[in-house]
Amino acid sequence: MAQYTPMMQQYLKIKAQHKDAFLFFRLGDFYEMFFEDALRASKELEITLTSRDGGGEDRIPMCGVPYHSSENYIKQLIEKGFKVAICEQVEDPKSAKGVVKREVVQLITPGTVMEGTMLDEKENNYLASISHFNDGTYTVSYNDLTTGENSIALITDGFDAVLSELFNRPVKEVVIDPGLDEAKQLMLKERLNYTISFGTETKIDDSFEGLLVNIHSEKSITGFGRLFNYIQQTQKRSLDHLRPVVPIELKKYMSLDMYSKRNLELMETMRKQGKKGSLLSILDQTITAMGSRTLKKWMERPLLSQEEITKRHEQVEGMLDQFLERETVREQLKSVYDLERLAGRVAFGNVNARDLIQLKASLTSIPNLLETLRQFDHPSIGSLYNSVDPLSDLAQLLDESIKEDAPLTLKEGGMIQDGYHPQLDEYRDASRNGKKWIAELEAKERQATGIKSLKIGYNRVFGYYIEVTKANIQNLPEGRYERKQTLTNAERYITPELKEKEALILEAQDKSMELEYELFLQVREQVKAYVQKLQVLAEQVSKIDVLQGFAHIADTHRYVKPSFNDNRCVDIKEGRHPVVEQVMKEESFVPNDIFMDESMDILLITGPNMSGKSTYMRQLALTAIMAQMGSYVPCESASLPIFDQIFTRIGAADDLVSGQSTFMVEMLEANHALTHASENSLILLDEIGRGTSTYDGMALAQAIVEHIHEEIGAKTLFSTHYHELTSLEDELPRLRNVHVRAEEYEGNVVFLHQIQEGAADESYGIHVAKLADLPESLIQRANHLLSTLESGREETVAAVEEEQLSLFVEKETQEVKPSGLEKQLKNLNLMEMTPMDAMNELYRLQKSLKS
Ligand code: ADP
Ligand code: MG
Repeated sequence: MAQYTPMMQQYLKIKAQHKDAFLFFRLGDFYEMFFEDALRASKELEITLTSRDGGGEDRIPMCGVPYHSSENYIKQLIEKGFKVAICEQVEDPKSAKGVVKREVVQLITPGTVMEGTMLDEKENNYLASISHFNDGTYTVSYNDLTTGENSIALITDGFDAVLSELFNRPVKEVVIDPGLDEAKQLMLKERLNYTISFGTETKIDDSFEGLLVNIHSEKSITGFGRLFNYIQQTQKRSLDHLRPVVPIELKKYMSLDMYSKRNLELMETMRKQGKKGSLLSILDQTITAMGSRTLKKWMERPLLSQEEITKRHEQVEGMLDQFLERETVREQLKSVYDLERLAGRVAFGNVNARDLIQLKASLTSIPNLLETLRQFDHPSIGSLYNSVDPLSDLAQLLDESIKEDAPLTLKEGGMIQDGYHPQLDEYRDASRNGKKWIAELEAKERQATGIKSLKIGYNRVFGYYIEVTKANIQNLPEGRYERKQTLTNAERYITPELKEKEALILEAQDKSMELEYELFLQVREQVKAYVQKLQVLAEQVSKIDVLQGFAHIADTHRYVKPSFNDNRCVDIKEGRHPVVEQVMKEESFVPNDIFMDESMDILLITGPNMSGKSTYMRQLALTAIMAQMGSYVPCESASLPIFDQIFTRIGAADDLVSGQSTFMVEMLEANHALTHASENSLILLDEIGRGTSTYDGMALAQAIVEHIHEEIGAKTLFSTHYHELTSLEDELPRLRNVHVRAEEYEGNVVFLHQIQEGAADESYGIHVAKLADLPESLIQRANHLLSTLESGREETVAAVEEEQLSLFVEKETQEVKPSGLEKQLKNLNLMEMTPMDAMNELYRLQKSLKS
């Protein structure tokens, strides 16, 4: 170390304390990075790598970004999941003896960014923390620094449940105990893609006890303590806006595990991992960003209390009934800015005058919004406006103090209204009068000298001056002015009077800017006192926004109000899939009923590929989730039980995301559903067992159905390509076969997407092949083989229970005498192929025949 220059030594010392962050080391107008940081940053940011001499033997790798455009670079690093430590010069370089003192003033991490441009406005930005305890419980706590929100959940059913809790929530970073199992750390990093940070300190400073008023258990306090200490250590600024921790009572909400959240594509699609095509994209008809964030929270946690759900439905109903008023509400919400994040930034102390103008604009439109709400006749709407405090005194303060066209900067004036402060008005008058005097002087001197182009200008170096072009100088009486500056085609002059006025003007301006800044800080302090009230108001407005969005979408997409029953009866008439029906353009979606009364638990769904099995199943789950969120649902009528949990498993071959997903994983997932489901749950098993050879898969699928039937009694939709399973209907009284029909019409396969009683009986791969004009003889042969295979299977399935699985495989090989093409044909599993696959395969076979 000694070999390095004193500045490099300072750098290395600071860097040692921030090993897991890029250290942005302030040097004049740049943030510089050195050594390893420089090598990595130059790659990540695509900036030039240079080097400098630092006293050591080798030159030190270096790269830097200009201070004034650093935000964009920081943003890029944060988005990639890195952390950035901002190291500033903390003393004036002019008065410094030796190396200028530098300190890290802020650590910016993915979970703690406050800067507007680094945030998705429609999404919360959570920092989460996990703590684990000896008895196997976990706590998961959340903080959104931009809104001040804090919450914590206590989780007692293992780490899987922790992952499910976190999955799909907009968490960017997670703070954990370094002692957390490494495999688990890896899961957080790789499966959930979080930035990992470590926190050991869990004790909360007394001055923040107020945050703990709602939580009492030691575990929760420790759990939140870990999160809080990390925030304190990284932020080094006011945390006054943090709100008391809200305990999340998981028992009050429908539980959705990680697999269901993903498979049902609630927040994002599996393929593209984007919002488009998700349930959220359909349901999000909110106007404000905070409304959008609240909608997401409602979707993350559908309710279980019928009373609370019904209350939301009634409010939607009230808004649905009155179109014009609803449209007015939508219009008025457009002028409400993000009160919640504004409040956060007020507390944080980084608002500028423009933010306050946004705040004012928002507050000004609140009374109108409330007025419109009063015009709704439905009694349920009352609670949306009755308790709302429109904060009119704050609105008035902002109206009187802050100028509408205030600039972004705080120190150049132009922020405070005339008439707000007498002293400021005086300064402004002085400066205005002075300027008027100068304008008059210009006119007077033009008159006196007869030089029409004479003008008075101003620049920073020389102040006010009189300018005369060279051409006119001969008309200027000698000694009238004092010469100050010579330009190529003009001379600039001053007079003692002019300088006197100039001093007055500049002094008034300086003082007024200084005073404005002071006044602005005062106003900001005053606004700070309203932070909590603003947060309450924001919450209320968000709720109004989500509900009007529900009403809006119910209206545009013809959704209806669901009702609930206590006898575990599912009765949906003409149900639709909310997303698929919107994606389809020319053709229209075929609605289907779902009926399962008290005596019916399992629907076994068969039907060819692409007929609509998966769609039908998901449709029920999505309808249930929407209903319990408080939304209307896509059907003609719906009576539903309240589901406590939803489980979704899809066969490995269909699971596009975890393409390498093994049969084992599939079984683990199924096991999760089987161990946690209750008779009040909904289970969707979509082609389970697909990930293995036919007989294992079929045997397991059957065993799973039986287990659900005998032991759990949850409402279950079970789709399968094992046609043989349909015979279970004879043995299991609470299971019923349904199938999706497809028909052949004039030689075409037509998918009707219609659910009908009974089991499906055909596979359509071969029909499709026929359409592709494959030779008739080949089609006939394929048909023949298919029927052999099918009858072969029926024989074997009856024997499954008695014989060893391995025997079947052998038996199967003995049955057909394989040779060339026949063998290949035989090995095709038509039941598992899409029509397109079948066609391709046949095409290939034909080609090999021809060659
Ligand atoms: P399966 O699971 O039986 O293979 P999917 O449920 O994946 O079939 O549906 C395949 C396609 O059929 C969907 O992408 C959709 O375009 C269409 N589809 C499904 N259900 C319907 C329906 N009820 N009405 C119209 N089209 C549908
Ligand atoms: Mg499917």
